[in-house]
Amino acid sequence: MNLQLFDTYERKVRPFEPLVDNKVGIYACGPTVYNFAHIGNLRTYLFEDLLIRVLVANGYEVNHIINITDVGHLTSDADTGEDKMELGTKRTGMTAWELAEFYTEAFQADLAKLNILAPSVWCKATDHISEQIEFVVDLEQKGYTYATSDGLYFDSRKLKSYGHLARLDVEGLQAGARVKLGERRFVTDFALWKFSPPGEQRQMEWDSPWGRGFPGWHIECSAMSAKYLGDYFDIHCGGEDHIPIHHTNEIAQTEASKGTRLANFWMHGYFLQMDKAKMSKSTGDFLTLDVIGERGFSPLVYRYFCLTAHYRSQMSFSLESLEAAKTALTRLYETAFSWGEPGTVDEGTLTRYFDCLNDDLNMPRALAVVWELVRSNLPGDVKKATLLRCDEILGLDIANWEMDQVDVPDEVEELVKAREAARASKDWAQSDELRDAVNKLGYAIEDTPGGAKISTLD
Ligand code: AMP
Ligand code: ZN
Repeated sequence: MNLQLFDTYERKVRPFEPLVDNKVGIYACGPTVYNFAHIGNLRTYLFEDLLIRVLVANGYEVNHIINITDVGHLTSDADTGEDKMELGTKRTGMTAWELAEFYTEAFQADLAKLNILAPSVWCKATDHISEQIEFVVDLEQKGYTYATSDGLYFDSRKLKSYGHLARLDVEGLQAGARVKLGERRFVTDFALWKFSPPGEQRQMEWDSPWGRGFPGWHIECSAMSAKYLGDYFDIHCGGEDHIPIHHTNEIAQTEASKGTRLANFWMHGYFLQMDKAKMSKSTGDFLTLDVIGERGFSPLVYRYFCLTAHYRSQMSFSLESLEAAKTALTRLYETAFSWGEPGTVDEGTLTRYFDCLNDDLNMPRALAVVWELVRSNLPGDVKKATLLRCDEILGLDIANWEMDQVDVPDEVEELVKAREAARASKDWAQSDELRDAVNKLGYAIEDTPGGAKISTLD
């Protein structure tokens, strides 16, 4: 089956073809680096990693851009409130620049721990201020802007197609607008450039044709994607929350300036749902990869957990379901380990597996194919070779997994080997005797699909 993907813009699954040759340009909206990423944020980057691995498996050459929002993302989507970065400086005592560097590195480390492939380019909003200003100058020349006392705004009513991505009822929104419009003319108008508050010096501010200040949040993505991928590229992605505001506004800016809808496919990862209080990056009390690590769940357990749901369905988080993912993954590792060296692949399984993935990244169904393989009667070396090919998408590092063994004295190792031999010849009495001997030396044996696992007796 050829690759088919769901496009939010057209609200349907349609065949994917690159715009140019076999090259695919992807832009993924990156994190706002004022705090650690929570595991919800990371689910979105895992979805994008799945997409990229599937594109690569289809033979495409992928150019993948992730931006770093290190300025201009305000606490309110109505372009009021504080810059999240400035808030972060108050919370931590770091400068805005230190804060950005610290949380960018923490984010990149999280992605690496999750086995998420690094993008081709990381780009920071603060490194592209002149590109953003140029973009806004062009919008101004084309008549899409107006100024208020606090900034320069995009006049959303000038653009007929405004809001198409989210199927926004723009007039209805305006009529029912309970949010304060302030000096904005229309509820969907948004800031392109904000002025520094009078009499106040921000840590991050720049001169512009309109006054000293900083860029609005959406303009960085229109300007940087144009720079790295051109005015119209293959796929733009992000979390579902970006559909009604951030991506709607990116499209508006690019349509007004370049006449394109920015990307051929718009793809969105759905949310990880959990206790609201535990998911707010602004309160500081939320689940990170490190926090779940302290509870005994490795990053790859979280990766496996996310693979069990389709990217277009919301997923509820609980420690019980994470525990179930851990059990399943451990079984997969141990079983695969027991198969030894890989032989030749089973093409039938691989075809079924990739057909599921090419069907709009249906990972839950692809995982079911993996478990059918595990339970099948195929020889171990065939299963191993096939599973390792599946792991090019799963990203669970199955080839390098080794049983967590404690260091044991040679004497114990000999007894364990002898016991394995006794078990192989079904000599249960001998096997029990050898187990007792190992226990007497202070070690326990657990029989797993990957072989005998030895630990110290408490
Ligand atoms: P932010 O750092 O807030 O700009 O968000 C980074 C990414 O995480 C964006 O693509 C968001 O859409 C996404 N995101 C935010 N919350 C969640 C969540 N609970 N589940 C999945 N993705 C999320
Ligand atoms: Zn963006």
